[in-house]
Amino acid sequence: MKTFKELDLLEPIQCALADEKYVTPTPIQVQTIPAALQEHDVLGCAQTGTGKTAALALPILNRLGQTNRKAVPNHPFALVLAPTRELAIQIGESFATYGQHLKLRQALVYGGVNQGKQVRALNRGAHILVATPGRLLDLINQGHIKLNQLETFVLDEADRMLDMGFLPDLKRIIEELPDQRQSLFFSATLPPKITELAQSLLRNPVNVNVTPKSTSVEQIEQRIVYLDRRNKLTLLQKVLDSKDVERALVFTKTKRTANTLAQQLMRCRINATAIHGNKSQNARQRALEAFRNKQVQVLVATDVAARGIDIDGITHVVNFDLPIEPEAYVHRIGRTGRAGAAGIALSFCTDDERRELRAIEQLIGKKIPIDRNHPQPGRRDSKPLNAPSERRKPSRKQQASKKPGHSQRARNRRPGFAVDGADKPKRRRRKGQTPRQRTKQIN
Ligand code: AMP
Repeated sequence: MKTFKELDLLEPIQCALADEKYVTPTPIQVQTIPAALQEHDVLGCAQTGTGKTAALALPILNRLGQTNRKAVPNHPFALVLAPTRELAIQIGESFATYGQHLKLRQALVYGGVNQGKQVRALNRGAHILVATPGRLLDLINQGHIKLNQLETFVLDEADRMLDMGFLPDLKRIIEELPDQRQSLFFSATLPPKITELAQSLLRNPVNVNVTPKSTSVEQIEQRIVYLDRRNKLTLLQKVLDSKDVERALVFTKTKRTANTLAQQLMRCRINATAIHGNKSQNARQRALEAFRNKQVQVLVATDVAARGIDIDGITHVVNFDLPIEPEAYVHRIGRTGRAGAAGIALSFCTDDERRELRAIEQLIGKKIPIDRNHPQPGRRDSKPLNAPSERRKPSRKQQASKKPGHSQRARNRRPGFAVDGADKPKRRRRKGQTPRQRTKQIN
C-alpha cells in the first residue's frame, strides 16, 4: 500500500499531512492525486467520508505551491464549487489545514451572509476560491470575480447540486471558465444527468470509482423498522436513550418536523438541536459547532442542511422519515462510518413510505435487513426473530361468534360472510354448494 511520502507532493504539504497524522492515502486519494498532479481531468465517484476533500485539495495546493505566485485581486487560480455553505466552509478549513505551511490565500464565498467581507477578501486577492453557486454568480455579475485566469475547476457533490436545482447556475458558471483548464468532478452517485454534465465539462478524464455505482458504505450497518407513524417519536427516544448512541444525526423530510422533533427530544431530556435551510447561517454554524463539540448529542437535520457535514464519531444515523430521492439515502447514511469507522443507520418506514424504501433498495442493490431489536406492537413485519409465532388475536366479535349460543342474528347480518352451511338460515342455502364455493361466487 502506498504512503503519502510516495506521492509526489511538496515538502510543506507532506509536513501538514504528518501534522494531521495522515500516513496512508485513502483509495480515492491513491487513484486521484497522481492523475491530478499530472494535470489530467478527473471524474471521481466517491461519497463523503472517503477522503475526497484531500483528494481534490492536495493537487491544487501542490500546483499553486510550486509556482509561488502572488495572488491577483479578483482573479482566483483555483475554484471549488460546493452545494452548501456548510460544505464550502469545511472545504475551506481543509485547504487551510493542508496548506498551513504554504503562503497561499483563499477566499470563501457563500450566501446567507453579508457579502462585504467576502468582497474584501477577493479584492485583496486569493489563490483559491471556495464557493456555492448562487453567491458566486452574484459576485461574478457584480464584477468582483473574474474567472479568466482560472487553472483548476472543481465541482464537488455534483449530484447534490442538481438535486438542489443548481443546474442553470452551474451552466452559467461553466460558460465563464477559460477553455484551458483542469477540471475535477466529484459525485457520490452517477445518474445519467450527472454523466451528461461530466461529459460536457471534462476532457479525457481519468475515471475513479471508489465505491460501486450508488452503493452505500460497507462498514455501515443498515436496518429498517416498520412502524406506524404515531410510534416514530417513542421509538426514536428509545433508540437515542441507548448507551451505544454517542452522537446521532436524525433526518426528517421537512424543516418543520426537524424543529418540532428537536423540541420534543429536548422535552424528553435528550440534548438535541435542529439544522435546516430556514435557519440563519450563524444559527446553522452554532448548531454544527455544538454537535461537533459534543455539547449536543443529537442533530436533527433536513437533507439540504446536512449535506457534506464532516463530523467524525457520528455513531448513528436515523432516518426518521425516508427521503423522497433514493440517492439522498446514500448521502445520509454516509455521515456515519466516516474515515473507516463503523456506524449504524436505522430507518423508520411507515406503510406510506414503502415506495421510497423500494426505490432505495433498488438503488443500493440489496434489501435492508429488518431491525429485530425494536419490535413494534401489532406489526408482524417487525417482530423479533426468536418471537413465538404470533397468531393474530381474534377480535371480540370473532371470539363471540365462536362461542356456542351466540346470537344467530349477529352472524346472519353479514351477507357473503362464509359461515358453516349448517348454521345458515334455510332461505339462503343453495343445494350442492359448499360455503367456500358460494363465497367465491359472491366475490
Ligand atoms: P472527506 O471524505 O474528505 O470528508 O474526509 C473524511 C474524513 O477522513 C475527514 O475527517 C478527514 O480528515 C479524514 N481523512 C481524509 N484523508 C485521510 C487519510 N489519508 N488518512 C486519515 N484520515 C483521512
